[in-house]
Amino acid sequence: MKNILVIYTGGTIGMVKDKQTGALHPFDMKKIYEALPVLRQLDCNIDTWQFDPIIDSSDMNAGVWIRLVDLIGQQYDKYDGFVVLHGTDTMSYTASALSFLLEDLSKPVIITGSQLPLGMIRTDGRENIISAIEIAANEQVAIGEVCIFFENKLFRGNRTTKFNAEHFEAFYSGNYPSLAKVGINIIYKQHLLRPLSNKPLKVYNKMCDNVIIVKVHPALRQEYLEAFLSVEGLRGVVLETYGSGNAPTSPWFINAIKKAIDKGVIVLNVTQCKAGSVVMGHYEASMELLNIGVVSGGDITTEAALAKLMFVLANYNSKEERIKMLNSDMRGEITGKEVF
Ligand code: ASP
Repeated sequence: MKNILVIYTGGTIGMVKDKQTGALHPFDMKKIYEALPVLRQLDCNIDTWQFDPIIDSSDMNAGVWIRLVDLIGQQYDKYDGFVVLHGTDTMSYTASALSFLLEDLSKPVIITGSQLPLGMIRTDGRENIISAIEIAANEQVAIGEVCIFFENKLFRGNRTTKFNAEHFEAFYSGNYPSLAKVGINIIYKQHLLRPLSNKPLKVYNKMCDNVIIVKVHPALRQEYLEAFLSVEGLRGVVLETYGSGNAPTSPWFINAIKKAIDKGVIVLNVTQCKAGSVVMGHYEASMELLNIGVVSGGDITTEAALAKLMFVLANYNSKEERIKMLNSDMRGEITGKEVF
């Protein structure tokens, strides 16, 4: 029998109704079998671990990611798979961060949550937890990566974005197909999974949060951009550009970015589009970015770009190494090198 550790960090999924008052309050994960007796029918042992305090995922930060990967690292030999219950709002950021902080995974880490609390009649949390545990304990395919399971699909975590605030189908992966579909059966697409590593797991414990995301838009003003980029200590910028990596061509814009790069800040170009890739130099409007040393994020999501930049800044020492890693597919977060 497989052993699965369910880690509850917080979020809507863990909320249940108080029988007397009707108010929603966090559920005690130790009572998971009482809340979902059907879990006894799964062919696995389930242990639980609850964060103290549990948090709304809007309060997620690098410190909590480090605690999470520390816990997985400490429990790694004891369990065959991990299910992380997490708020949906920052789930894609956490999935991306965990994918970088856990190198050479050979066991599944499946993150899930829900749009409606577990304690509500029409909750999506019930199906999400059951399927996430079933996938983490499955005997059919070996999963060695950080995934998000939501509604009826298993995704590579660092390829996802929360795209709907209301629908049960809340996550989307625009540049990589789903890894499994759940209907009457669970259909795994084995060829899309990352190959299992035969090296021991390496858990990193550093992330740099001296980073910002700047989204270009038609009302972006020189003084605002310059103010952002001149903040003391800034080390990395995820620049969300238009289409295939295009940005304003005005000299003030290019000069502001160039000044930051000359100071040693790394600027990573990602597209605002929900699918497709940055291809710098494709249009005049991205040629200058290429010339001044902006790094292409290829088809990475904004969430994964932020996590990757935080990871690379903290764990690689020279500028050359950092840029090399940003250009490399480290955990399946970008598609091939040809995009650069
Ligand atoms: N605000 C909640 C959270 O992200 C929403 C959710 O769980 O879906 O923690």
